[in-house]
Amino acid sequence: MAQSGVTTVSNRLERRARISDLLRSADVEDLLSLGRADVLSLHLDTDPTKPENQRPEPAYRIWARKSVLELATGLGSSERKRLDELAERVDARLREDRPGGRGLVLYAADGLWREYVLPVGVENRVRYGFADLWPLLWVREAYTPYGVLLVHRDHARLWVTHLGEAELVEDEEFHLDPSQWRFASGKPPSFAKGMGMPASRGAQRDTFASRVEDHVRRFWSRVASAAGKAVEELGVGRLIVGGPPEAASAVCDLLPESARRKLVGTVSVPPQEEWPAVRERVLEVAREDQRRRHHEVRDRLRNGEGPGGAVLGPEATLDALLRRQVLVLAADRDVDGRAWLCTGCEFATLRPDERCLTCGAGLVEASWTQVLPALAWRNDAQVVLLEPGLLREHGGVGALLRYR
Ligand SMILES: [Zn+2]
Repeated sequence: MAQSGVTTVSNRLERRARISDLLRSADVEDLLSLGRADVLSLHLDTDPTKPENQRPEPAYRIWARKSVLELATGLGSSERKRLDELAERVDARLREDRPGGRGLVLYAADGLWREYVLPVGVENRVRYGFADLWPLLWVREAYTPYGVLLVHRDHARLWVTHLGEAELVEDEEFHLDPSQWRFASGKPPSFAKGMGMPASRGAQRDTFASRVEDHVRRFWSRVASAAGKAVEELGVGRLIVGGPPEAASAVCDLLPESARRKLVGTVSVPPQEEWPAVRERVLEVAREDQRRRHHEVRDRLRNGEGPGGAVLGPEATLDALLRRQVLVLAADRDVDGRAWLCTGCEFATLRPDERCLTCGAGLVEASWTQVLPALAWRNDAQVVLLEPGLLREHGGVGALLRYR
């Protein structure tokens, strides 16, 4: 997708499903309604490199059919009938063609059919009732884009990378266009060669060297401002700068303020070293950044550092959500638990009471992972999914509050 003149040049991994497109376009807000509790949410591991998925009847198709039918047992007859119909639609869809990518997410209900193809693996998972957006939220958190600016004395590149838990999922490459001093699509500029350091000697050496240094400084200054513009336009929130230490630190200093705030680290790269050689080190800096952010969120929760303090634990968090106090909702990715919700007035409780205390309607049972995103959305709260187990001793969930 073109954005303000900055377009994708290359995609290292040829995959039909692009994580950047997913993150830009996955419009799931309408699925966060608590008004409908008849949504089948299906996450399938469709990884085509797995032998079990290469058979004429791929494993994910068998799993989907079996698990949806299992869900139906124990439900009332009208819901069972509805699930049978949905199971048939899903099966028909999975027979049409093999989904591209490594994971497939389906949301299906009467009048609703949504598909997201993921370039990253997901675990097989099925839910019925309120839509289950948890795995998509995790993908959004775990594969958040980083800008990587690699700068040398005479050339610069910018990559936008999606760094997953243990791998680089994809990256897009942008070249510096020296005629406009911006990172954009197109061929690598040929001018770069002419800007290298020519050999020099003799009496003029010092003057010449200082002229070259001026030239290089100017180049870095323009790279810094072009990079600032590019990350803004690309919606990239985190930036890593790499290069020989002199170049990297000069460019960091020269970055516009808005881009400097996005800086999460630098990577020392010898002259001439290119992207494939530094990818691993960049990945390590990004992982470290993610760890640090997750631990920061936990510390802020523990220290009560929201504008209105903080709460920890399922009971207090649910209470704050119902009072619309929540600014940031944080939860372990592997949080587990049940809640009971009223589809009429959106009352929720952790106790399986039979009827809503507020309006008297019947309550619908759901898992935390179905309930939390929907309630957070009502609070206009940011949702942060944390690495598994980080909040376990607090019941896996907490919130920073807007006000007391
Ligand atoms: Zn109610």
